[in-house]
Amino acid sequence: MDLHEFRRYAHEIVDWMADYLENIEKYPVMAQVRPKEIMNQLPPDPPQKSESFEQILADFEKVILPGVTHWQHPSFFAYFPANSSPPSVLAEMLTATLGAQCMIWQTSPAATELEERVLSWLGKMIGLPPDFVGVIQDTASTATLCSILTAREKAFNYSINAKGMNDKGILTTYCSTETHSSIEKSVKIAGLGKEYLRKIPVDENYAMIPEELEAAIESDLSKGYHPICIIATLGTTSSTAIDPLRKIGEICAKYNVWLHVDAALAGTALLLPELRWMIDGIEYADSFVFNPHKWMFTNFDCSAYFVKDPGALIQTFEILPEYLKTKEGDRVNNYRDWGIQLGRRFRALKLWFVIRHYGVEGLQQKVREHIRMAKDLTKKIEESEDFELLAPVPLNTICFRYKPPGIDDTEQLNHMNEKLLERLNRTGKLYMTHTKLNGVYTLRFVIGQTYVKPRHVEQGWQLIKETAKSLD
Ligand SMILES: *Cc1c(COP(=O)(O)O)cnc(C)c1O
Repeated sequence: MDLHEFRRYAHEIVDWMADYLENIEKYPVMAQVRPKEIMNQLPPDPPQKSESFEQILADFEKVILPGVTHWQHPSFFAYFPANSSPPSVLAEMLTATLGAQCMIWQTSPAATELEERVLSWLGKMIGLPPDFVGVIQDTASTATLCSILTAREKAFNYSINAKGMNDKGILTTYCSTETHSSIEKSVKIAGLGKEYLRKIPVDENYAMIPEELEAAIESDLSKGYHPICIIATLGTTSSTAIDPLRKIGEICAKYNVWLHVDAALAGTALLLPELRWMIDGIEYADSFVFNPHKWMFTNFDCSAYFVKDPGALIQTFEILPEYLKTKEGDRVNNYRDWGIQLGRRFRALKLWFVIRHYGVEGLQQKVREHIRMAKDLTKKIEESEDFELLAPVPLNTICFRYKPPGIDDTEQLNHMNEKLLERLNRTGKLYMTHTKLNGVYTLRFVIGQTYVKPRHVEQGWQLIKETAKSLD
């Protein structure tokens, strides 16, 4: 493809992109295909000869698009959002065109320095104390793994990196029963053993009970184990429960244990001063992660990882082979030493575009509106005789179920709600997902999509009510 053709196709694709976003409500939100339906349309062997770009684009529309779930559809109420936005998409186009490898300062000084500046903006925007320093990771899972590895190394004066874990005894970690699965995965990868990850019970709001945490630590200490890390969650994935950070932080300080805060979704809500109560006690934290790629209108992947002691992070991950030595040395950040991967994309650019395009006030306004819509729908669910709220709604996620009067059997209700969800998603008009809270099949309605308006929430609620009626 010469540059003349590149220019022509690029314009064509930009038109396609704008048309797609303009008409996105015409697509079924959840892809309505069966397993292998897409695969069977793809030839088993790669083409030996060049194919025309027209043909490739035509197949993208014909074969690929029907198998896409439309995360940017305004009626996407499933999981947590993975938002993009026009400025973020435009930045991703530039990032792809530059194609820069941003592993060290010298391989793209602007990428490093923009990342440093924008993460410092971001820390201020969400009210983190000024001594936290940020770096972009691909995902919250990776950031949490970095945190646990750093906690492990710091606890043993960086000797595990050198000598392995052979003589270290048993290292314990702590989180709540509602914590994201990435914590257990990190504990496994870090070599700590999932049996030694203590899942602390939660209260009636699904938040960690600090007294239970302290009892678990005491019990482990009495056995000669080494507690090394506690993970507190702000906004659990099932129901956005908020662990009591100050109380957990006090326990971390008392026992000298690393505190990692997982605010993957809820970090965005900290843009709003009225929600900063969630980080009361943040001064106790050693590390904090949140995902602008969830709710903050920035294309996946972009996870903001903040640490109080970058030296500890760097000492855990530093490498310096001859071929990566440069003369700038300590005067600049070399982000390859701030995490697991060596090669890094230029991800700060989209964050910079997003923050400048919306401004802090524009971002606050959008997030505040999402939370307001969630409060509205919560009220309607509470007032409805046929539906029941199943957890508090501190943010944008509503946990509820269909429960018509006279039906009390849990199994029967679980079955009904499973059927209801299946029918709703088959309509293609909205997409929701479920969780289980205390064994109860729970529908989740998450309001945080970039393009969601009150009418989408209202249409969704009407559809839920009608579909539930049709079950009887
Ligand atoms: C989504 C989520 C994660 C995982 O995020 P990734 O960036 O996909 O790794 C971790 N913790 C919580 C609380 C989450 O909601």
